Amino acid sequence: MNPLRSLILAAAGNDVIRRAVATAPVSRDVVRRFVAGETTADAVGATRGLVDAGLTVTLDYLGEDTTDEGLAEQTVHAYVELLDALHEHGLADRAEVSVKLSAVGQLLDERLAAENAARICAAAQRCGTTVTLDMEDHTTTDSTLRVLAELRGTYPWVGAVLQSYLHRTVDDCARLAGPGSRVRLCKGAYAEPAEVAYQDTHEVDLSYVRCLNALLAGDGYPMFATHDPRLVPIVGARAEFHGRKPGSFEFQMLYGIRPDEQRRLAGLGHTVRVYVPYGVQWYGYLMRRLAERPANTAFFLRALTSRA
Ligand SMILES: Cc1cc2nc3c(=O)[nH]c(=O)nc-3n(C[C@H](O)[C@H](O)[C@H](O)COP(=O)(O)OP(=O)(O)OC[C@H]3O[C@@H](n4cnc5c(N)ncnc54)[C@H](O)[C@@H]3O)c2cc1C
Repeated sequence: MNPLRSLILAAAGNDVIRRAVATAPVSRDVVRRFVAGETTADAVGATRGLVDAGLTVTLDYLGEDTTDEGLAEQTVHAYVELLDALHEHGLADRAEVSVKLSAVGQLLDERLAAENAARICAAAQRCGTTVTLDMEDHTTTDSTLRVLAELRGTYPWVGAVLQSYLHRTVDDCARLAGPGSRVRLCKGAYAEPAEVAYQDTHEVDLSYVRCLNALLAGDGYPMFATHDPRLVPIVGARAEFHGRKPGSFEFQMLYGIRPDEQRRLAGLGHTVRVYVPYGVQWYGYLMRRLAERPANTAFFLRALTSRA
């Protein structure tokens, strides 16, 4: 892994750095580039703008790794409120939600997380939309896939995320490529050890291509989450090879990253879904976005020093 990326991800776990960054006034400006705002109304407003531009959306109420049952409960409420608001504003057919199981209690108890996720799924069903379970670090992969299987028993439309940096993922893609499945393929955003994950970015990209072929060859609905200018055309070419028409798979990108490319792909007739994070707990999310790209860190540091 890139040493700068490891450093930033390590810093993300340091409480002193966390407090310093979270309370710096300039952080707010940088956060706005990647985060839609803090409230349900902000999330709905951002969704409206993207939908009007021909895009679809998945919303993430920020928060993760909670060890407090009350916070997990609060997260469930936030999602239910959001889903109701999307429905009320006529946006539920274009916007779904992404949920991190660690935000709804996975670290406390897998059963609690499954029950909380099921409540969010019930609200999504009532509002006419879907839920995708985000994937977190590799210690949670088996647990998340177990919860996914359980939820899909009642809500067959629940989506999963698989990360191409993990050695296991090509097999997981083949297993999850069945009829009705929705799988988001991404590279993976956590600092993972060599025992379980490719460390070389080229290896991660090669794995991404193997995984995308496995998904496209199956009967499910693959969702290709990448901004990589080399991988996007490969997705297009391999989709054509597998006889996939636009609408039988989709592209996904993060809010604020390559917005022109998002609109270009939508203009070609593809479904493009923008992952829109919102909420006050933006710290972990921001750190992962900074770690992905040295230019983002430089932007952040410049902003900090220009205000100092
Ligand atoms: C919709 C969506 C959902 C995701 N869900 C998950 C998840 O559940 N679990 C998980 O582990 N990861 C998730 N990720 C993150 C993902 O794993 C990667 O960390 C992230 O997408 C960067 O990888 P990349 O494929 O864009 O390629 P990279 O090789 O990182 O980047 C390729 C190019 O994309 C552009 N780019 C990429 N990142 C940035 C950035 N931060 N700022 C500016 N430009 C950038 C640059 O041009 C860069 O050269 C998700 C990503 C997306 C798009």
